[in-house]
Amino acid sequence: MISSEAAPFAKTGGLADVVGSLPAALRAFGDEVAVVIPRYGSIDLKDARRVWDNLAVHFGPDAYPVSIYRAPAEHPVYLVDCPPLFDRKGFYGESGTDYPDNHIRFAVFCRAALSVARFLFRTDIFHCHDWQTGLVPAYLRTTFARDPTFLGCRTLFTIHNLGYQGLFPKTVLEEVALDPAVYRPDGMEFFGQVSYLKAGMEFADAVSTVSPTYAREIQTPEFGFGMDARLRARAQVLSGILNGVDYADWSPQTDAHIAARYGPEDLSGKAACKRQLLEEFGLPPEAMERPLLGTVSRFTRQKGADILAEIAAQIVAEDVYLVALGTGDPEYEDFFRLMQQEHPGRIAARIGFDNALAHRIEAGADIFLMPSHYEPCGLNQIYSLHYGTVPVVRATGGLDDTIEEGTGFKFAEYSGQAFLEAVRAAVRVFADREAWRRMMLRGMAKDFSWKTSAAAYSELYRRLLAG
Ligand code: ADP
Repeated sequence: MISSEAAPFAKTGGLADVVGSLPAALRAFGDEVAVVIPRYGSIDLKDARRVWDNLAVHFGPDAYPVSIYRAPAEHPVYLVDCPPLFDRKGFYGESGTDYPDNHIRFAVFCRAALSVARFLFRTDIFHCHDWQTGLVPAYLRTTFARDPTFLGCRTLFTIHNLGYQGLFPKTVLEEVALDPAVYRPDGMEFFGQVSYLKAGMEFADAVSTVSPTYAREIQTPEFGFGMDARLRARAQVLSGILNGVDYADWSPQTDAHIAARYGPEDLSGKAACKRQLLEEFGLPPEAMERPLLGTVSRFTRQKGADILAEIAAQIVAEDVYLVALGTGDPEYEDFFRLMQQEHPGRIAARIGFDNALAHRIEAGADIFLMPSHYEPCGLNQIYSLHYGTVPVVRATGGLDDTIEEGTGFKFAEYSGQAFLEAVRAAVRVFADREAWRRMMLRGMAKDFSWKTSAAAYSELYRRLLAG
């Protein structure tokens, strides 16, 4: 698996959780997986072992010095170390601006990953994730098409978010030593630019995305980001496999980050978690009797930050409380800061990335909000179910596939009004303590562990090798 993120080494979102936990789940099906990620500045090499030195990646006259480290993990995790490219503060950029050499950074990364397969871990399947790895199938189809090392290898490209397309000017093809023939509508060309995501989508043997509904949605103009026609053309090899979650990390029975442990047999610990969360956010103890709404999110329009902003004041008018954790667009970060000032003791926000706090919100809130505009899979609503925190979600992508009547509240139209009505419906049910408890328990009984989804990936790998 080639990815720009994998928990616990490097994480900004759900991609990291998936690549962090799917390999172990695949072992049950006899699949042996190695993971290749960049060695970012934030990854400590103290416990890692250097396994390959001075692997130069050449693009014409330019050479990039790369070393490969193996991180301590149950399965091989290879870190591509190239300090001039990756030893930086961010993964993809800083202060909201992408690094100007991302096309080089991830091209070098892809070439280094192919070298890992050549020298360190012979592979049958290259499973590539998102635009940062899209050049792997492209190089395999062009530069290395006749390379005996890779004969018979198959590629799977998984789209975790079609909104991030790795778009660059056409001139980068030469900089990353790609055959100019890839610049065509059924190749990397995308409205006069090149797209690394499209490279993966067009040149991989199979394409998957992270929920069945999102696999259908991306073939429509509304969700296709301009790629829908090409995705329809590839419909025969496109499938949707719902993400699983790692309950070893996300279970109220064992979670080390939360104030008290609890489970479906004994929910009393959840009240302790709520009390602690209220204190942590400086919200009053009266809130114990009222619904506490929580959200953990990238504050972007994709995640519905705009409609949450639109109705925040009306939500708290329902005599409820709201805690929010996230980072993202400065506009929405400012909005949450403002909301907290305007509704002291009602709305409390933390701007930042804080894994332990994300766990405490999952455990301490009564209701979890995910009003996404689009959502390829979404993990937080699945974690919420397991923590007995009833989700209110927009019926899109993976949210639609994982939440049903009886475990959560869904709304269809992307509008503040529709969202507000769903929140009000949740608040009404909350008032009936017994009905609410039943709803929590139905959610907690759901099983979204990797078992089913890892089986689907394993079967897809086998089909690819057979075909
Ligand atoms: P996406 O990958 O689109 O951001 P997902 O719901 O698939 O959304 O996954 C988000 C993951 O990132 C979850 O594990 C969530 O807890 C975590 N996360 C998102 N924002 C934060 C934050 N500000 N602090 C801590 N964890 C966060």
